[in-house]
This record gives sequence, structure tokens and C-alpha cells, in this order.
Amino acid sequence: MTDHSFWFYWFVFFGVILGRYLLIAGGAYWCFYLVFGKSFAQRRLRLKPPLRESIQRDVELSVLSAAVFALGAAIILFGYKSGVTLLYVDLHKYGLWYPGASFAAVLILQDVYFYFIHRVFHHPLLFKWLHRGHHRSGDPTPWTSFAFDLPEAIIQALFLVGVVFIVPLPFITLVAVLMTMTVWTVLNHLGFELFPASFPRHWLGQWFIGPTHHSIHHRQYRVHYGLYFTLWDKLLGTHDPNYETEFDTLLRR
Ligand SMILES: [Zn+2]
Ligand SMILES: [Zn+2]
Repeated sequence: MTDHSFWFYWFVFFGVILGRYLLIAGGAYWCFYLVFGKSFAQRRLRLKPPLRESIQRDVELSVLSAAVFALGAAIILFGYKSGVTLLYVDLHKYGLWYPGASFAAVLILQDVYFYFIHRVFHHPLLFKWLHRGHHRSGDPTPWTSFAFDLPEAIIQALFLVGVVFIVPLPFITLVAVLMTMTVWTVLNHLGFELFPASFPRHWLGQWFIGPTHHSIHHRQYRVHYGLYFTLWDKLLGTHDPNYETEFDTLLRR
């Protein structure tokens, strides 16, 4: 690999991360709010159309978040080049089962990390410093998926920066985790429910977070702190007991 300065890599990662956000969040917004919105009217979670100023604020915060995540990515790359991370390229190193298993393990770890930091963010003394930016828009749009205040973006970035020093990971797993995280968070902030009516009671669906589940968090604050899975909310008493009925009501409108 050709050597460039740390800030060169930071700049490249900043462009890639921002481009990924604009493409996925912007693409989802374009599809659901500008082009096909009427076809999904029955599945709309918002009561009012989003405000232009809210979207602008979300995008501004997201540019800041992209700068922080690019810093994390440049640190990971420099760590890898110095041989101090557990990242590797050869997929056969631990057997072909390992990339899939480590992918699942990182999602589970990230979900635990996110659940607990998210609960801390909502502490009344910390909320306005750490998490108010993410909740400023009220009902979210795809643009909200990446909108974090600076301290929240740093705390979120620390997860992946830390995990590459603790868990051996093939590069492809890291990329798959990043893509899953981006698509899943855009889905959670979509403002439209895409899953079938049976989803919250389905034997598997009930364990996954989706748009209705997370939009309840944006309205109530005191429930639904998870990122991918409903497990911790269910175990620790932060699952909204009306979630299933809200889902039914929405799809019967
Ligand atoms: Zn959110
Ligand atoms: Zn929150």
C-alpha cells in the first residue's frame, strides 16, 4: 500500500463516508418522500410532512459525524499498517465459517454497546450535551440516521475503533458491518413501516428493530434504546407494551 499522510486518508474516508450517507439516506428520502410517497401513504409513520429546516440541521450534523467517523477509519487504517490491530485480509486464516460468525458477533456487541450508551445519553443531566441533536427533528427522516452531536459521534466511533483491537476481523467483515449499520439505521429512521403486519409477533421478527419500533423511541424517549435487536429492551423493561398494538393500528389505518 502506498504511504500517504494520516490527513490524506482522513480526507478520502470523509468523502467515502459522506458519499455513502448521501447515497443511502438521500436515495431513501428521494424514493419515499419525493417519488413514491403516495404509494406508501398507508404505511407512513409521521403525522406531518418533515420541515426543510429540520432536514438541513440533520444534514449539517451528519457532515460533522462523517468527519468524526473518518477520523476513526484513519486511526484503524494506521493501526492496521502498524500491525497493532487484529484485522486481516486472508479469508482462510481461521476457516471460512469465521467471517460470518465474527460478523454476527460484532453486530451483537455493537447492539449491547449502543443500548447502554443510548440509555446514558438520555440521562437528564447528559441529554442536552450528548444526544439532543439526534432528537431535534422530532419524527425522524432518513437524513436523521447519521445526525449526532459531536460527543455522541465520538462515543459511537469508539466502538469500531476499539473492536479491531479486541476481536480478530477480516476486512470484509468490517465492511459488511459498516454497510449493515448504515442501511439498518436508515431503515429505522425511514418514517415508513415496510414490514408485514405479523412482524412484531413473528417468532423471528419480534427480535428485530424496525421503523415503527424506533419511531416510538423518537416520540417517547423512555423506551426502545436498541439498535438492531429488541432483546435488551425486552430484558431490561424498556420495551413499549403498546408496540404490537401500535403496529396493528398503523397498518389498519
Ligand atoms: Zn434515532
Ligand atoms: Zn435517543
